[in-house]
Amino acid sequence: MNCLEFERLLDDGARDGLPAEALAHAHGCAACARSLARARSLERALEAHFAADVAPPAGFVDRVMARVERGEARGVRWLALPSALPWWTRAALEPGVVLALATLALFTWRGGRWLAGARVTWDVLAHVPRWVHDGLIAAGFGPVGDWTLRWLDSIAASSLSVQVGLALGVAPLLAVVAWLAWRAGEAAAGAT
Ligand SMILES: [Zn+2]
Repeated sequence: MNCLEFERLLDDGARDGLPAEALAHAHGCAACARSLARARSLERALEAHFAADVAPPAGFVDRVMARVERGEARGVRWLALPSALPWWTRAALEPGVVLALATLALFTWRGGRWLAGARVTWDVLAHVPRWVHDGLIAAGFGPVGDWTLRWLDSIAASSLSVQVGLALGVAPLLAVVAWLAWRAGEAAAGAT
């Protein structure tokens, strides 16, 4: 018995004649226990009204049922079905997003130091093409090496704001590639 089957039994009106396995589920499931308690108290309230032979106030049942349905749409059913959580709730719990947020927090906290570190890293990276360039010339790919070197030299010679701007422009592209790779990895893991 799962939460959905339990809810369906309740909706069918079998509050007191519930099978043993349904009662066992409600015993171990807080959400369904709440649903059962709510259904029983609603029934008791209705019985009390009809037993006293007093006509319920106009719209009483509608109001109660509307409240029960609102409560279930908001609470019980969503708790019972994790896959029904809104996408942003699940997205916020993804390891990649958590890592990105942590990085952002670190950057905000010690931005200056991080920028200085990034600057040093970039300077080192800017010298890599020179070695690649020499290698390319040796291998007979001179023009390609020249073009790459000129392009990277112009970036390394430009101001930090241009470099940061370039990095910000390239970052979304890298993020998309990383996301595609992650999806591919997930699909591969799911296939095994
Ligand atoms: Zn349940």
